[in-house]
Amino acid sequence: MATAGKVIKCKAAVAWEPNKPLVIEEIEVAPPQANEVRIKIVATAVCHTDLHHLFENTKEEGFPVVLGHEAAGIVESVGPGVTEYQPGDKVIPLFISQCRECQFCKSPKTNQCEKAWVGRHNVSSAPDSRFTCKGKKLLQFTGTSTFSEYTVVNQMAVAKIDPAAPLDKVCLLGCGICTGYGAAVNTAKVEPGSTCAVFGLGAVGLAAVMGCKAAGAKRIIAVDINPEKSEKATVFGATDFVNPKDHSEPISQVLSEMTDGGVDFSLECVGNVEVMRSALESCVQGWGVSVIVGWTDKEDFSARPVQLIAGRTWKGSAFGGFKGRDAVPQMVKAYLDKKVMVDEFITHNMTLDQVNDAIELMKHGKCIRTVMTVSPQ
Ligand code: NAD
Ligand code: ZN
Repeated sequence: MATAGKVIKCKAAVAWEPNKPLVIEEIEVAPPQANEVRIKIVATAVCHTDLHHLFENTKEEGFPVVLGHEAAGIVESVGPGVTEYQPGDKVIPLFISQCRECQFCKSPKTNQCEKAWVGRHNVSSAPDSRFTCKGKKLLQFTGTSTFSEYTVVNQMAVAKIDPAAPLDKVCLLGCGICTGYGAAVNTAKVEPGSTCAVFGLGAVGLAAVMGCKAAGAKRIIAVDINPEKSEKATVFGATDFVNPKDHSEPISQVLSEMTDGGVDFSLECVGNVEVMRSALESCVQGWGVSVIVGWTDKEDFSARPVQLIAGRTWKGSAFGGFKGRDAVPQMVKAYLDKKVMVDEFITHNMTLDQVNDAIELMKHGKCIRTVMTVSPQ
C-alpha cells in the first residue's frame, strides 16, 4: 500500500465537546505502532453508547474524541509484530479486546480481557490514540473510534472475518447484535420452553429477542415505551408487546399477572437504573435470571435484597459475553448461512457526512440502526 508507514490525512467526525453536533474535519492518522493495525473503515453505525458519551456522560476529560465503535473495514497496514492480519483483510474492530493471554481470556467463564480499554482507563476514551486534528490530540473511543475513514486499533481488538461478508451489513456485529444476542444465549442462558421479557427494543433489545428465540423460548414479551417498536419486535420473534405507559400499575406487576408469577429470564436493554430494577422484579422467584445489558455509569441501582434472597439472580453482560476475535467471525458466518438476521436491523442508510442526522434519529427513537458508508468497499 502506498500509504503504509505514512501519516494519512482523512475525514472524521470529531466530537469537540459534549452536547454539540459532531464536526466533519480533516484529521491526521499516524501509522500503526507495534502490535497495531490501521483500518480503512468502510461502514459504521450509530449505537446508543455513542449517544451516552456525547449527551449523558459529559465529563470534560472525555473530549475531543472520535466516537463510533460498531463498524467494519479493511486492513490498510500493520505495525511491527503483527502476523495475524494483513493489508486487504476484512475486519471488525472490537471494543472488548481478546489478548488470549490474560487470566480472563484463558477462562471460558468471561470475555472481560484484562487489556480492554475499560479496565485500563476506566473511562470511555483511551488517551493514546493515533489521531490529531488542528494540532490537538483526539481521544479514542472504546479503543475503536470508527467515525473516521481510518483508525488504528490494537491487534488484540480486531476480528478477521470472511472475505465474502458485506461490510455495510456485518458492521452491526461489531456491537449491538452480538451484545443483545449473546446476552440471551451466553449470559442469561435462556432455556427451551422458557418465558422471557426484553426491556428496550433498540438493536440491542431486538437482538436479545432474536437470541431468546434461537435458544427456544416459547414466550417472549417485548417491552418498550415507544409503540412504534412493536412491529419490529415481532419480526425477531416476540410473541407479546407491552407498553408500560398503557398501564397504571408497575410493569413488573403487569408481567407477573401475564405469566403467573413472573418470567424465567429478563433482559434490560435500555440503560436506565429504574428499568433494571423493574426487569429484576419481573422475574419469577426461585429461579428467575435478570441480565443488565443497558449501559450507564451515572447512577447506582437499587433493589430489595429479598428479591435475590427469594432465588432470583442478577447478572450483567458486556458484548454479550462473546470473546470477540473468536466469536465475531462465527457470527459473521452465521449471518452468511442465514442463521442470524442482520439486514432487518438496518432502517436507514447514510454517509458519514450525515452523522448528526443519524444521531438525531436515534435520539428520537426513529431508527433501529443507521448504517453510514465511510469509504468505498
Ligand atoms: P436504542 O436507543 O436504539 O434503544 C433503546 C430502547 O429503549 C428504545 O427503543 C427506547 O424507546 C427504549 N426505552 C427507553 N426507556 C424505556 C423504558 N423506561 N422502558 C422500556 N423501554 C424503554 O439503544 P441501543 O443502541 O439498542 O442500546 C441499548 C442500551 O444498550 C444502551 O444503554 C447502550 O448503551 C447499551 N449497550 C450496552 C452494551 C454492552 O456491552 N453492555 C453494548 C451496546 C449497547
Ligand atoms: Zn454499541
